Amino acid sequence: MENVIEMTTRRVRAEDKRIINNKAVDVNQLVPIKYTWAWEYYLDACANHWMPQEVSMQRDIEQWKSGMFTEDEERVIKRVLGFFTTADTLVANNLVLAVYKHISAPECRQYLLRQAFEEAIHTHSYQYIPQSLGMDEGEMYNMYREVPSIHAKDEFEARLTVDLLRPDFETESFEGRQKLLDNLIGYSAIMEGIFFYSSFVMLLSFGRTNRLPGTCEQTQYILRDESMHLNFGLDLINAIKEENPDIWTSEFREQAVAKIRQGVKLEIQFGTDCLPNGLLGLTHQMIDDYIKYVADRRLEKLGLPKQYETRNPFPWMSEIIDLRKEKNFFETRVTEYRTGGTLEWD
Ligand code: FE
Repeated sequence: MENVIEMTTRRVRAEDKRIINNKAVDVNQLVPIKYTWAWEYYLDACANHWMPQEVSMQRDIEQWKSGMFTEDEERVIKRVLGFFTTADTLVANNLVLAVYKHISAPECRQYLLRQAFEEAIHTHSYQYIPQSLGMDEGEMYNMYREVPSIHAKDEFEARLTVDLLRPDFETESFEGRQKLLDNLIGYSAIMEGIFFYSSFVMLLSFGRTNRLPGTCEQTQYILRDESMHLNFGLDLINAIKEENPDIWTSEFREQAVAKIRQGVKLEIQFGTDCLPNGLLGLTHQMIDDYIKYVADRRLEKLGLPKQYETRNPFPWMSEIIDLRKEKNFFETRVTEYRTGGTLEWD
């Protein structure tokens, strides 16, 4: 039997590395680094480390129990949190079980491992928030099976995972490489890039009126992480395109645009469902415009034609996305992550 790790004096050269199908070169040697951008994402993501339980939920609990929220406000808060309780788990499972195996450049895997942990932190947040507020957990965790507008989005995503999970799935063939790209577009551009963003806007709007401060502080950290997941995902797609120009056919591009348009439609349905009457200076028309605005940004970054040309009705979202590590956007409390230096040894 051959050795699993081949004995050889042939060394890995950076220029031979590939994002996918790198197995022929080596999947274990991070160095020599070729994809420095992926390594940078990993370092930046680590610098943003945070944990949900560091954020106090005290004021949120008082507010939630005080009866200060109208029925419409409670509806949007619960729908958005209900969507999120299972959303990051779907992303994490797709990442770890379906995608990771096929992204074979160690630099990219290093970031994907960090991202997978962040998805777990986000799932933790969406457990911590409803539990702190005393929401009905059965109701929250089952929304993706029981609320049609949430089910439709998750069903759309989950379908993209099915083919990659088949035991015979591979990324050597033309079809296999296109399928992988299709999955990445579905999760990075649509799930993390569109579905998440309109929910962030709806939730963060409460923070702008000093409501649900703990929930909104966590949401800001999640948004900061997610804007990296999204950008890494799009950079990854572009890098695969560059190394595999044959798969970026005009037919595939048209399908990608159609898929993003389909995602926009599903998200508009969800926005209308969350905000049937409008509140907090938010109308579902503004949410529609925002969904289309972010969709155009994703299309643009992928080198695909913009479809909507709407204006961003929430310029404050961009400020939050640029949030520095030291500062909370709504208050100015410093939330510095405790590093190993504070550990005490007996
Ligand atoms: Fe994510």
